[in-house]
Amino acid sequence: MSSKSKPPTSVVTGAAGFLGSHLTDLLVARGHKVIGIDNFVTGSVDNIAHLGGNPNFKFIQQDVTEFIFLEGPVDYVWHFASPASPIDYLELPIQTLKVGSLGTHKALGLAKEKKARFLIASTSEIYGDPLIHPQPEEYWGNVNTIGPRGCYDEAKRFAEALTMAYRREHKVQTRIVRIFNTYGPRMRINDGRVVPAFISQALKNKPVTVFGQGTQTRSFCYVSDLIEGIYRLMMSKYDLPVNIGNPTEMTMRQFAGQIIHATHSKSKIIFKPLPQDDPKQRKPDITKAKKILKWEPKVKLADGLKDTIAYFRTKV
Ligand code: UDP
Repeated sequence: MSSKSKPPTSVVTGAAGFLGSHLTDLLVARGHKVIGIDNFVTGSVDNIAHLGGNPNFKFIQQDVTEFIFLEGPVDYVWHFASPASPIDYLELPIQTLKVGSLGTHKALGLAKEKKARFLIASTSEIYGDPLIHPQPEEYWGNVNTIGPRGCYDEAKRFAEALTMAYRREHKVQTRIVRIFNTYGPRMRINDGRVVPAFISQALKNKPVTVFGQGTQTRSFCYVSDLIEGIYRLMMSKYDLPVNIGNPTEMTMRQFAGQIIHATHSKSKIIFKPLPQDDPKQRKPDITKAKKILKWEPKVKLADGLKDTIAYFRTKV
């Protein structure tokens, strides 16, 4: 690790993505030098364009499943590269498996080489279609390995296992965050996830497509809350998985109504088939994050949606 007088150096994989770019902004604001890596498979240059010319940000266009060579010291490696929406990993199943496995291997190798601390962006998807509700970190999950979501779920499960192996075998300092549904500006409008889908449909006064009967639940965390929790986890001493998310749970039918209301839309709700293996319920148990990180979400859904809707208005 570099001495206290020097600014820390962070490497962020997936820096041009939704979460990676918000994390990069927070790190730069907190005095880190950031090296962002992305291959733009699902990331976008628009998300990092504002950092162009900033002396504390350097960008490398690279697929992180290939060997990552960097000169100079690195203090923190944040591994965020991955397709992350159900449509993305349906379209990119092999890239999803590769970045979760080979990409995690390369990012861990970099952390080992540089004696840097490593954090893996894991996911609530490792709990699959959960049989325990809400989900605590101790729950081992209910995943269909061969279903359409298996490529993402199993890649992230492998990533967690590899992270623990590097901790045990190579003594790399590691952190594992399990990220629950998150929303905010810079989500891709057409990534198929429920937040961009509902908001863009509502803004265009088009039917809002609720899958199944809309009784399935999710719990949405605003991106600034999430990134703060992840930062605290990296800086903490805790090296087992921690859920970060907002426990305010709702059905997708309710959520559609809220979006229509918040956008003052004329849209009607229509029902479409439920995708295979769509989890019926999801809500983080955040007892650990509260206790260990002194963290809990602050942004209310109505406030977070306001900013998110304003962002999507510029995109539809
Ligand atoms: N969903 C929906 N309509 C859409 C997109 C998604 O009803 O147009 C539902 C989806 O079936 C799931 C929930 O919204 O139950 C969240 O889906 P998302 O793709 O955002 O992510 P997930 O939480 O399933 O990974």
